[in-house]
Amino acid sequence: MRWSSALIPTLKEVPAEAEIASHKLMIKAGLIRKVASGLYNFLPLGFKIYYKIENIIREEMDKAGALEILMPIMTPAELWHETGRWNLYGKELMRLKDRADREFALGPTHEEVVTDLARTEIKSYRDMPKNFYQIRNKFRDEIRPRFGVMRSREFVMKDAYSFDRNEPCAEESYKKMFEAYIKIFSRCGLNFRAVEADSGNIGGSFSHEFMALAASGEDTLINCPACGYAADREKAEGASPFCGNEKEVLKPLEKVSTPGQHTVEQVTGFLNKKASELVKTLLYMADGKPVAALVKGDDELHEIKLHRFLGVTELVMMTAQQVEEFSKAPVGFAGPVGLTGMKIFADNAVSKLRNFVTGANEKDMHYANANFDRDFKINKFLDLRVPKEGDLCVKCGSALVSLKGIVVGHTYKLGTKYSKSMKAEFLDEDGKRKLMVMGCYGIGLARVIAAAIEQGNDASGIIWPMAISPYQVIITALNYKDEKIKLFADSIYEEFKAKGVEVIIDDRDMSAGFKFKDAELIGIPVRITVGNKTVNEGLFEIKLRKTGEEFAVKREELFSKVKEIVQRELVK
Ligand code: ATP
Ligand code: MG
Repeated sequence: MRWSSALIPTLKEVPAEAEIASHKLMIKAGLIRKVASGLYNFLPLGFKIYYKIENIIREEMDKAGALEILMPIMTPAELWHETGRWNLYGKELMRLKDRADREFALGPTHEEVVTDLARTEIKSYRDMPKNFYQIRNKFRDEIRPRFGVMRSREFVMKDAYSFDRNEPCAEESYKKMFEAYIKIFSRCGLNFRAVEADSGNIGGSFSHEFMALAASGEDTLINCPACGYAADREKAEGASPFCGNEKEVLKPLEKVSTPGQHTVEQVTGFLNKKASELVKTLLYMADGKPVAALVKGDDELHEIKLHRFLGVTELVMMTAQQVEEFSKAPVGFAGPVGLTGMKIFADNAVSKLRNFVTGANEKDMHYANANFDRDFKINKFLDLRVPKEGDLCVKCGSALVSLKGIVVGHTYKLGTKYSKSMKAEFLDEDGKRKLMVMGCYGIGLARVIAAAIEQGNDASGIIWPMAISPYQVIITALNYKDEKIKLFADSIYEEFKAKGVEVIIDDRDMSAGFKFKDAELIGIPVRITVGNKTVNEGLFEIKLRKTGEEFAVKREELFSKVKEIVQRELVK
């Protein structure tokens, strides 16, 4: 590609709404332009990256035996009614009507459509395993589209769906996809972890998220550097290293005045106690019924764990008014002693505490030396806290670390959730009709791009991994009007192209400084400078974007040297 005939509209300034590096740099480097909230144009350079990721995905999916298909984006409401997701999906599902007033949804994911396909085309156990995939636009009316293409309303997803005759075979299909994902993200040059995750909207028995590590990531994962255990914060378990004071003799309960002290910090500061010597009481409404959850003052309640344990549809924190109604005190003074009309659940760490501070259900009052069993009853102790860095790994006992990540892919074991509601059956070897066992597997292509940029950038711009860089090599021809320079630059450009190197030549009539800046901004891994040194000494200067390393190479060695660098950086 000749830069002079390309469209690479690099910018100096970016809109203020671009908060994170990838969003800023995708605009600055001329990869994307916003059309409306959560909707983007991919310009030629951006689309090239897209295309490369798509090819890596396609290669690995095909190698894993998956079959590429194309399903319609517009999907009939009847299918969504069969699984109940027409109502369950809520506002994220984009709905529309045709001229005859029939209802449709723009597919946010395709379990319904693909299960419909499977139930008509797969008849016997002999027809399985089957894994269908497509790489296509998805629509989700996200509440807060943000971070550019990272959370947009229309995005391209590779979605795959496996169908098996039984659970062990489904497990095999899942494993194959899991391994394919490891290859895909490794080849894309991402630093990622496969983490155990919650199944969310898609449902099913268990799932893994593939998280690209990045400080700007929206998700937190808990990782054990010793044994490799990794789980989404929403799913993670971690044993609190807290030893407690179980041996302490129970002291008499004492009501103490804490005027105007609401927060853990205020109360413990006022009473000269540590946060770990206080028990927080959090009040919720679970499907309209009050419930209390206790955690140690320095711990955070894990709402999802409580929600999952209670098995309710809706769990919301009480409003200030509800707190007053149930605890008879303003927010900040609730406590388990004398709290009636609701069940009380406590985190396991609380069971190791004696003589703790807690709210007294009275304005400006707390209790000191409160003790469960003696002063109040706990319905159940369970794991209710958010795991933290320094917690002990439940698998090997080593200290856990907390990392931020971007979810680039997700694999779900669905079991028979969809085949049951949609009656996707087959005839098994024993002559019986059985439900197909499913899995589904997604990758957000634009998130892979954004994640790669979050992981590879500096003050000058993007630093692409070789495999997904729009070009492997940029030839920066200084003073291209100079006939000799032009001759040298064109000759290597033509040679590289002919030999299969992905190359762009900057042949614009611009200053050297300007061209160098642009080359760094768009992040091409190898830059070859053709200038006076080339004309006078026959030397081509190579600069590597990632390391900044610079060296000069003679004409006859140039191709083999560049090829070696490119090959070295491509993960197989
Ligand atoms: P999130 O929790 O980030 O909303 P999700 O669980 O809704 O993700 P999935 O339904 O598993 O996402 O979708 C599969 C993949 O599609 C995700 O792993 C992600 O890479 C991508 N993806 C999901 N939502 C978006 C979006 N709004 N914009 C861009 N990519 C997305
Ligand atoms: Mg989502």
